Amino acid sequence: MKVKIDYDLCTSDGHCCDLCPEIFHFDDEHDRIMVIDDEVPEDLEDLVRQAADECDTGAILIRED
Ligand code: SF4
Repeated sequence: MKVKIDYDLCTSDGHCCDLCPEIFHFDDEHDRIMVIDDEVPEDLEDLVRQAADECDTGAILIRED
């Protein structure tokens, strides 16, 4: 599974970072959410799917391989 963020949609509310800090991180320098590892480890896939489901603006884009 791969994940990325659509920055045109992301509001930087930080919900995904709270839910899965292993993958989503707020980067103070760039003032936006960063994906730490776009190749999601298998044990984190469910959490990343949940983050995508719960993202209010649909900014988390998942590609299932
Ligand atoms: S939950 Fe969605 S809108 Fe909120 S910071 Fe994460 S990607 Fe952005």
